[in-house]
Amino acid sequence: MQDVIIIGAGVVGCAVAQRLGTYAGKVLVLDAQGDVSCGASKANSGIVHAGYDAVPGTDKARLNIKGARMMPGLCRQLGVPFGKPGALVLAFEEAGKAQLEALLKQAEVNGVPGCRVIGRKEILKMAPLVNPEVHYALYVPESGLVSPYELTCALADAAAENGVRFQLNTKVRALRHQTDRWLVETDQGEFACRAVINCAGVGAGELHNQISGRQVSITPRRGQYYLLDHTLPLAFQMTLFQLPTRMGKGVLVSPTTHGNMLYGPTAEDIPDGLDTATTQEGLYGAMAKVRLSFPTASTATVITTFSGIRAHEKGGDFIIGAVEDAPEGAFEAIGIESPGLTAAPAIGEELGDWVAYYLKLEKNPRYIPPTPLPKPFSAMTDAERRIAWQTDPDYGRVICRCETVTEAEVRRAIRRPVGARDIDGVKRRVRAGMGRCQGGFCMARVMEIIAEETGVSFQEVSKNGPGSAVLSGQLGDVRDE
Ligand SMILES: Cc1cc2nc3c(=O)[nH]c(=O)nc-3n(C[C@H](O)[C@H](O)[C@H](O)COP(=O)(O)OP(=O)(O)OC[C@H]3O[C@@H](n4cnc5c(N)ncnc54)[C@H](O)[C@@H]3O)c2cc1C
Repeated sequence: MQDVIIIGAGVVGCAVAQRLGTYAGKVLVLDAQGDVSCGASKANSGIVHAGYDAVPGTDKARLNIKGARMMPGLCRQLGVPFGKPGALVLAFEEAGKAQLEALLKQAEVNGVPGCRVIGRKEILKMAPLVNPEVHYALYVPESGLVSPYELTCALADAAAENGVRFQLNTKVRALRHQTDRWLVETDQGEFACRAVINCAGVGAGELHNQISGRQVSITPRRGQYYLLDHTLPLAFQMTLFQLPTRMGKGVLVSPTTHGNMLYGPTAEDIPDGLDTATTQEGLYGAMAKVRLSFPTASTATVITTFSGIRAHEKGGDFIIGAVEDAPEGAFEAIGIESPGLTAAPAIGEELGDWVAYYLKLEKNPRYIPPTPLPKPFSAMTDAERRIAWQTDPDYGRVICRCETVTEAEVRRAIRRPVGARDIDGVKRRVRAGMGRCQGGFCMARVMEIIAEETGVSFQEVSKNGPGSAVLSGQLGDVRDE
């Protein structure tokens, strides 16, 4: 019997888990995928939204602002990359000025400091490669960047260090209430708990509708991106947005925390919440919009394309707290589309505290504050690299040449409290395979290290969990018929 079961190990589930780790209780996180951060939390723009866009008075606005304020401190504590380069929301027609002024008003009401509407001359001074046809922009100095999957993995580790257990590859099929407990039925058996928290992203609506008469409706909304290599100097230091539309914040051009450029995302409503395909139509459409902001944008240095799925709830706001119209002990975070990454620390804190209050959990007397992730080898000075290598000779072998990731770091990614178990898990934690060759050179060595560290055979190592085997047999097994 658990005190709490959290369904979903995205940034929201992991933030809730980390908060609950500050209390004394038995907490279990279940996720259908083989790793944490396999849903929207691994495939988004990585923007820490300042909060100019959220409608004042909504939970989205409140949690966006609170989360954005928490983010720098949290990232420092966890050792996760964070930056605050600022943003411009561009308008290419005279009529756009009124929309920008409305956004500015919203920013003021939401308490976002420093925003102002600026004209072409100032825009081109800040970002000389912006389309000179631009008329006005909203300058948002508080707009930040975070590495979303590194944040999620670090939150999971911080939770696990305080006793939270993670059971992955476990899909929740049904929730049932029985006298004093919730029964969580999964493809790996049934689990009982005193409180259940539904943080299942695009899968959250289905679970909610099983237990509440107040039905929700989640539409999967896909966003496709181009990711560019970081070998060239950044075209822009800040994020370029266009005016928001009914479908979201529009297509952006943005640096990432690791110095890549990101173009996208599209916003397409699709029937299948797991369909993360990229399409020619989607990507071409995104590029046409990118070129409105950045006319000389090129695909020459694109290293990969990918997509993520937003969980859009028809009401448009986040739904956070106890599940209305359900037996007590059920909590949820539903419709956590953008700015859900930004809001996650705030959602984690509020939802974690509510559930702890409901269960009357004491503070964790053995609470261990998070250990910040070590500085990556790629960011070390020569003197730091020498010390690292003297302490651990595995720092002397570079496994991923594109991102300069050493064997010591790959091994540590696997040994972490919620460690990587597949190739993509290593990639999300330490960037091996994240660069120009996308793992072409380092994948075999990463596979060997995973096999050594986890005790599975080389052939069993997968790209991203069950069903994604890289090898199908040994050459010696192929015989002439
Ligand atoms: C294209 C795009 C761009 C975005 N850009 C930004 C941005 O720049 N800034 C920002 O603040 N936000 C952004 N967001 C929003 C942000 O990414 C999400 O709000 C956030 O990642 C949601 O986290 P989550 O934990 O709720 O969902 P997820 O990360 O999707 O996690 C849900 C988890 O639940 C699991 N799950 C689902 N069903 C079940 C089940 N039945 N049993 C067990 N497990 C289950 C899934 O496997 C998954 O791991 C963007 C989103 C997208 C898609």
